[in-house]
Amino acid sequence: MRRFLVAGNWKMHGGLEMTTELISGISREVLNMATISEQRELAYDILVCPPAVLLQHAGALAKSLPISIGAQNVSPHTSGAFTGEVSLPMIAEMGCEYVLIGHSERRELFHETDQDTAEKFAACVNFDKSVVPVLCVGESLSERQQGQTELVVERQLNAVIDAVGIQGLDGAVIAYEPVWAIGTGETASPEQAQAVHAFIRAKLAGLDENIGQRTQILYGGSVKSGNAEQLFSQPDIDGGLIGGASLTVEGFVGICRAA
Ligand code: PGA
Repeated sequence: MRRFLVAGNWKMHGGLEMTTELISGISREVLNMATISEQRELAYDILVCPPAVLLQHAGALAKSLPISIGAQNVSPHTSGAFTGEVSLPMIAEMGCEYVLIGHSERRELFHETDQDTAEKFAACVNFDKSVVPVLCVGESLSERQQGQTELVVERQLNAVIDAVGIQGLDGAVIAYEPVWAIGTGETASPEQAQAVHAFIRAKLAGLDENIGQRTQILYGGSVKSGNAEQLFSQPDIDGGLIGGASLTVEGFVGICRAA
């Protein structure tokens, strides 16, 4: 019933040339340049999230392909004196259909709080054009070791639910990304990931059964073609948010095939 979503988070990598190579390579390999109607029959959706300055180029390339484009971050403000920031109307105009909200690198390196994340999420919900927020949650290594995984994930979810209500999460995507698994080569085991995904779904379903059942929950953290199939076979894992392995056509396409 839920579709799979395979999403690439390029982080601060790439340029015009890499963007062209990746998007054309993905379309060539995965979609085999079939007709649009055949492409729509793919069993999963594909999303790539390049750096902000490459969104226009990526959006233009992906326009006629069933590849969605997303931003990695967005301002909660629509316009104004916010030097260096990029707004929802701007990314929507570049062709973005998604935006990552509260990635652990935003939280850790740029000191984004649960409250900041909730404000950005609320801005997406209140935006009149559709840009789907992909809310990233996940615990650090020490939090896991202290048995606080569920506590942390629930706190991160509650900040958003308090801001927009459970209805505000309808149509959004959640990405569970344990911080200790991001960029480390150490993936959560399928069982570890499934346990947290089931917890997140139960939390949402406790507030609204339908929203809980239809929300796509992605796993992120050192996903590669070699471990994607096992992760994706878990009942509550609906795809992946891929960092390092999304930077080559081979790596990303290998994961798409697992979906
Ligand atoms: P990784 O990154 O796949 O390189 O671990 C995932 C992410 O940060 O979204």
